[in-house]
Amino acid sequence: MRTERRSRINLRHLMLLLAITSGIIMLLAGLLGAYQVQRQQLMDSTLASNEAFAVKLATTTTDLLRRAQQTLAYSADILQRGKMNPAVVRAEIDRLREQGMGFNSVTVAGVDGLVTAVAPENLALLGRRIDSAESLMIRRLRIPLISKPLTTALGRLAIVLSQPLFGENYQYLGYLAATLYLKTEGGLHRLIGEQYFHDGTYVYVVDSSRRLLYHPLPDRIGTLANDDPVIDAVLQGRSGQQHVVDQQGNDMLDGYAYVAAADWGIIVQRPTEVALRRLDDLMQRVLWFTLGPAVLLLVLLWTSSRWISRPLEQLARIVRSGYEDGMVRQLESVHGWYYEAQQLKYALLASLGTVSARMGKLRTDAHTDPLTGLGNRRGLDAILRSWQELNRGFAVISLDIDLFKSINDTYGHDVGDRVIRSVGEWMQAQARQGDALFRTGGEEFLALLPDVGLEHAASIAERLRMSIADASILPQQQVTVSVGVAIRTGGTAEAVLKAADQALYCAKQEGRNRVVVAGRAQVEGRAQ
Ligand code: GH3
Ligand code: MG
Ligand code: MG
Repeated sequence: MRTERRSRINLRHLMLLLAITSGIIMLLAGLLGAYQVQRQQLMDSTLASNEAFAVKLATTTTDLLRRAQQTLAYSADILQRGKMNPAVVRAEIDRLREQGMGFNSVTVAGVDGLVTAVAPENLALLGRRIDSAESLMIRRLRIPLISKPLTTALGRLAIVLSQPLFGENYQYLGYLAATLYLKTEGGLHRLIGEQYFHDGTYVYVVDSSRRLLYHPLPDRIGTLANDDPVIDAVLQGRSGQQHVVDQQGNDMLDGYAYVAAADWGIIVQRPTEVALRRLDDLMQRVLWFTLGPAVLLLVLLWTSSRWISRPLEQLARIVRSGYEDGMVRQLESVHGWYYEAQQLKYALLASLGTVSARMGKLRTDAHTDPLTGLGNRRGLDAILRSWQELNRGFAVISLDIDLFKSINDTYGHDVGDRVIRSVGEWMQAQARQGDALFRTGGEEFLALLPDVGLEHAASIAERLRMSIADASILPQQQVTVSVGVAIRTGGTAEAVLKAADQALYCAKQEGRNRVVVAGRAQVEGRAQ
């Protein structure tokens, strides 16, 4: 037979384990799902707002440049109409410088690039010839221009906006130029400004040759931007949004817009990690909110698992403690409140019925003499024990067939057996309800008569002896019995049996086929 190792996990633990595991899985799945959805939403909205912001900046920048050019054109017109009168020039460039467009410097240069006027006046430019590539281009093209970032004659990184100056008959006189410094406070800084720095979002501006016009790190201004698909896209004139991982491995959410007026690109960036920081807070709050119901659920599980496992544990305990008389009552008292427990209880009760029937039969068999159907010595012991416990009074009739050996010898063992059986039947015929009859040895019998007085017992014994003597048990020979009678009123059972045996012995001694009654005093005296 296969023996199973005793399991350490019980049903209750198993239920709790299953419930807690599935609870945790559900919770994690829920959190993960919520996290994914929220994450995507946050990223989408950040991308959208970055794009909107970039577009807005591009519009504002276009406006700024257009206004700057218009202002410059207006001043150029005043200079032309004033016929380049030095006083007019002086007044106009000062006004231009102060006007609030954020121009860092304003210069007027002649056809040969010679600076004829400059504001502010303290700039050491007056009388100097500017022959930078930019200046040459301005003089050659003779149209309004916005330059690429360049280093001015005074070593400043700047962009230059310029308007050509013409005299009468469309004669070219030179140009009016205004600079916007890139690294110090000026129009571009004021426009994009540090106000957009807070929450980790930042902006940078590139020109068509990928040079940085504006960047939150001043050192980067004027340098070339790194390779970036977003810069490629914006310089192709597109606006949009993109989730990128740059060369340094920075995960960024980009919005971008193109400034057609100057062929620039504006990029608004926010590190994904910063954008998602709110999500972690959100998830933590969700976790905290979940904690209360989770604890409640745990308590509920703990109690309900107890309710569920309880009837099964009780049934197991009753069965484990082994078969005993009160078992049916114990099983019936178990409250099988759900289907399986109830079925198990009924199954146990049913099998217990079979077991107890078998046990009863076994007990009866073990206590019965097969030849006569009367009780045997084991049966006698059991009844004596219980009657003694109950302190029950009874009479004992001890009976022995006379000269049985000769019957055996004369007629054979089978006939001897038949005689034994017949004597047993005669005893049963004489017995009353409640009397207990036994065959205690070969041809020896015993009757226990509860609640019977000595005289009454003696008369019963006499009637039995006579009925056997008168019966024709054997056709050719009379069968007789000798009988001893004793009574128990208080002593031990053994003492009464012994008294009855002695009375029987006396009966044999006195010639057989008779009843001898043990004196009451004698029985009690021996019992003490
Ligand atoms: P007494 O009157 O003194 O009792 O004489 P007795 O011959 O009956 O003597 P005893 O009681 O000593 O003899 C019992 C005999 O019963 C001995 C044995 O051969 C026989 N016997 C014992 N058990 C059985 C049995 O089961 N069947 C048969 N047929 N005979 C048995
Ligand atoms: Mg005998
Ligand atoms: Mg005998």
